[in-house]
Amino acid sequence: MKSDIDVAIVGGGPVGLYLAILLLQKGIECRVYEKKEKPDLHSKSLGIHPLSLDLFDRAGITKRFLEKGVIIRKGVAFWNREEIGQVTFDRCPPPHRYILAIPQWQTERILEEELCKLDPDAIQRGAKIEELQESDGQIHYRLSRNGEQVASTTRFLIGCDGKNSPVRKSLGIPFTGGPYPDTYVMGDFTENTNFGSDAAIWLHEDGLVEAFPLPGNKRRWVVKTTSYVNDPQPEMLKSIAQSRTGISLESCENSMMSSFGVQHLMADRFHEGRILLAGDAAHVVSPIGGQGMNLGWLDAEAVAEALSNILLMNRNYHDEFRIYTSLQRRVAKQTALRAELNMHLGRRDSAGAAWKILVMALIKTPARHLLARIFTMRGLGSWPV
Ligand SMILES: Cc1cc2nc3c(=O)[nH]c(=O)nc-3n(C[C@H](O)[C@H](O)[C@H](O)COP(=O)(O)OP(=O)(O)OC[C@H]3O[C@@H](n4cnc5c(N)ncnc54)[C@H](O)[C@@H]3O)c2cc1C
Repeated sequence: MKSDIDVAIVGGGPVGLYLAILLLQKGIECRVYEKKEKPDLHSKSLGIHPLSLDLFDRAGITKRFLEKGVIIRKGVAFWNREEIGQVTFDRCPPPHRYILAIPQWQTERILEEELCKLDPDAIQRGAKIEELQESDGQIHYRLSRNGEQVASTTRFLIGCDGKNSPVRKSLGIPFTGGPYPDTYVMGDFTENTNFGSDAAIWLHEDGLVEAFPLPGNKRRWVVKTTSYVNDPQPEMLKSIAQSRTGISLESCENSMMSSFGVQHLMADRFHEGRILLAGDAAHVVSPIGGQGMNLGWLDAEAVAEALSNILLMNRNYHDEFRIYTSLQRRVAKQTALRAELNMHLGRRDSAGAAWKILVMALIKTPARHLLARIFTMRGLGSWPV
């Protein structure tokens, strides 16, 4: 039976948008359904790693990101307020020997523009997938758009619909894991430090502080808190940052505040029949270390590869999807471990003297190159590094 479309992608976040670009570039027709009318301006992710920039080079979409982002070539580390060393990214393979800082909404906007260059109708905003089921070798799905219900069919459906994935839930795939005890408050402020385009990290006995440069002469501050803060206010973050780092943000304007707890969750399997999961729908790792979105793009690469093997080379979809699940679960597990290490570095209960000696040994010796490798996601799974 002929389907309306070869591939339907549920969710127009960073993973769904990038996947659609890859598919269209391979000549595979697809549609992205996104329930939101426009990208959310509340910024989550900020870091694009060299590994992802290499993938973007292959897709020919790096230029706009470099125009809009800030290049971070090194991070300065403090123990309480004492500077203990620097981690540079100059050992990353060329050309991207840096992390690119750019707010997630801007990343999504650029990806959407690149997608629309390939097919202006590829993304359908305001379209919410409400029901799906597989029969007769295809997926039948129903979406609501502008108050209307539309029924359609596709050969393959990819759930890129985030942590609470309705696609994953409709398949009954368990999402295993749970929360870590760590909680944070973050806020974007006008810049008033001398760090320029460097990141700074304070491993403080009262809790971690991180400060990353942002485009538009701003800086994102993240501070660890003792419990989840429901309605975070700029004054609270300013006061914590000053007491731990000695830097006053008093005169700085705030443009975003948010609180977050961290979790580690993984779908028991990433596929069911003709349906695949990718990105946060398949796995959630701690945002400390900034790897979740980048991990989702690795999924997108693997999904595009599997679908081109199936649709263009007539390979069996059961085999391709099994390979996808086994490879990407391995990559996701490795990423989760690295994210956990990043988080552990900043825990208050890690702040003893022995921990300080260990951290100093890591930062002041060639072992810092290993840290840089972990931060920049190099050596994951089978991907080129
Ligand atoms: C505070 C914070 C900081 C972070 N920092 C970083 C970082 O620096 N680097 C990094 O790599 N990652 C970071 N992350 C993680 C990153 O934000 C996520 O991994 C990323 O957003 C996942 O992308 P996604 O496309 O899989 O899912 P999402 O971004 O969640 O997108 C899913 C989309 O699906 C849509 N959708 C859901 N249901 C439906 C439906 N029924 N029909 C149609 N559409 C639907 C949603 O509206 C949404 O737009 C951070 C996360 C947090 C919370």
